[in-house]
Formats: sequence, C-alpha cells, structure tokens
Amino acid sequence: MKAAVIHAPRDLRIEEAEVPTMGPHDVQVRIRNGGICGSDLHYYQDGGFGTVRIREPLVPGHEIAGVVDAVGSAVTRVKPGDHVALDPSLPCGHCEYCLEGKPRHCLDMRFYGSAMRFPHVQGAFRQIMVCTEAQAVPVPADLGLERAAFAEPLSVCLHAGVQAGPLMGKRVLVTGSGPIGALCVMVARHAGAREIVATDLADAPLAVVKRVGADHAINVRTDASALDRFSANKGFFDVAFEASGSGAAIASAVPVLRPGATLVQVGIGGAETPVPLNAVVAKEITLRGTFRFDVEFAWAVGFIASGAIDVRPLLTDVIPLKDAVRAFELAGDRSKAMKVQLAL
Ligand code: ZN
Repeated sequence: MKAAVIHAPRDLRIEEAEVPTMGPHDVQVRIRNGGICGSDLHYYQDGGFGTVRIREPLVPGHEIAGVVDAVGSAVTRVKPGDHVALDPSLPCGHCEYCLEGKPRHCLDMRFYGSAMRFPHVQGAFRQIMVCTEAQAVPVPADLGLERAAFAEPLSVCLHAGVQAGPLMGKRVLVTGSGPIGALCVMVARHAGAREIVATDLADAPLAVVKRVGADHAINVRTDASALDRFSANKGFFDVAFEASGSGAAIASAVPVLRPGATLVQVGIGGAETPVPLNAVVAKEITLRGTFRFDVEFAWAVGFIASGAIDVRPLLTDVIPLKDAVRAFELAGDRSKAMKVQLAL
C-alpha cells in the first residue's frame, strides 16, 4: 500500500508502506477519505507547531473514513464491507485519566499522525489502517465516506461546545472561520444559539460560515472597526469560540464579551500568545481550553449520519493520494479551500 510521508517542511512523498499485522480485537480498514487538518498543514508547511516538531518521517492524517476489509476473531462491532469513521484516539485505558473518564488526557495517548511523542504516532493518510474495534465506528453505507471523514473535526467542536456550557438562547462569537470555526458555528446553531457572529481575515471562508449558520460574518482585516459596536455596555456576547489561535483575535474578543461570559480557546498558536488579562479579570470572564474529544466522536457520527449537521458545504475538494502535494498546497490557500480531502 501507499502512504503520504512528510520528511521535512514542504517535503511530502508518496511511499510504499507495510500493511500492519492484526490482532484478535483489531479491524483492518481500507481508508477512502482523509481530511487535511490544520495540524497536518503545520507539519507540512513548518515541520510542526509550537514546541511540537517532526523528528522523524511522519505519516500525517487523522480525519478518516473507509471500508472494513477484515476483522480479528474477537470483533463483533463491524464486519467486512461495513463503512466506518475512524476515531484517531487510542488511549491506554488504565491510567488515572482514562479511569476518570477523561481519556483525552491519557498519559499514554496514541493519537494518529501526531509528533507530540517520540517515536511519533504514525497517521492515517495511507491506504490500509489497522485500528482497534473501539476506534471503528460504523456509519450508514449510503452516507458517503467524505461526510463520515468529518466526524473527527466535528467531535473537536462538539467538545468545545460542551466546554462552553449551555448555548440555548446565547449570543455567540466565533473568531476564525476555517473548518473548525465553521463547525463551531454549526454546533452553536444546533445547540440553540440566538445570534452567531463569525470573523475572519479572508472573505471566502466568511461566505461559507454564512451558509452554515452565522447571522453575521465580519472581515476584521478589511473592516477592523466592525466589532466595536458590540463592545457597548461592557459587551454583547455570552460565549466566544476562538478558533484562530491568534493573539489579535483573543484581544478583539475580550472587549465584546459580557461580564461573566465564557471564552473557549479552540485554536492553538505560538508557544506564548498574549491575553488581555486585566479585562478577563474585571469582566469575570471564564477562559476555558478545549482539547480533542471523548464521547463526542460518537455524537458527531450520529449528527452527520442523521443530517442534523450537514458538513457538505465545507468540503471544497477531494484529491487523489498521488497528488497529495497539490492537495496540501491547496489546503493552505484559504482563498480557494475550506476542507480538502485526500482520496486514498
Ligand atoms: Zn490512559
């Protein structure tokens, strides 16, 4: 089988890879669709993000769906031919965080396509993947694997929504309108938000977020003062999802949050990102991080399969594995691409 392998910044090669062996509780999946995520792009463009750097060749990819090829003797959840979305999380199951029901904080997490540990955990931009039964979540055969491959990023945003608390009737700001910001808009809409305003520095993603549920979309590059009207009377929004990881976006969000509001930091930035701390203190703003997901993966599959959340407006291109370099270059062009998937 073939895999996409990042050797260094802008050095991505299609290489032959070995098919892993399978144990009794494992599932072998023929991967069909793999979405290129911001973190995959950081590995490709910069060799990593923050303090996480590629120190050996890395197969990226963790937003994936495919068809079951074969199952181990003990597997009962799926059978060959079933369509599945793959949960890229593989927690140990027995550390203190796993036992507390927070496997996303597992002390021995193996998350596909991540250079956070060494040796790196190799990812899923490959034609055949062997995963555990727990990771292979069945989806309807007529759903379309390109939609199933959105389960992972949607899980991230559902978990961000959980971190925000109840959204019914709330006014919500989303800063950064890439795929994660757009999915946060969809989650907030689905959860009953009253009014949603999304921002970005580019017009193309703003057009998409308006389609998927934002009431207002503001280009803060060309209309820098457009958020100002929301700062009257100590602010307007009850919740902000900050999906850009940019200090400027955090600084723009705090003045428009009401006292007691919650800012959920979804995006990651450089090693040290400034926060307007005095205003956070004076307005009693709750600053919450959000990291990956746990049970939300199953919710995401359900919302996508039922059509309750329609991810299709976010998919801009599906590009064959042999053209992976073109796919990564396109994914990095925000004027043209929202979500780019590889056809593996
Ligand atoms: Zn664990």
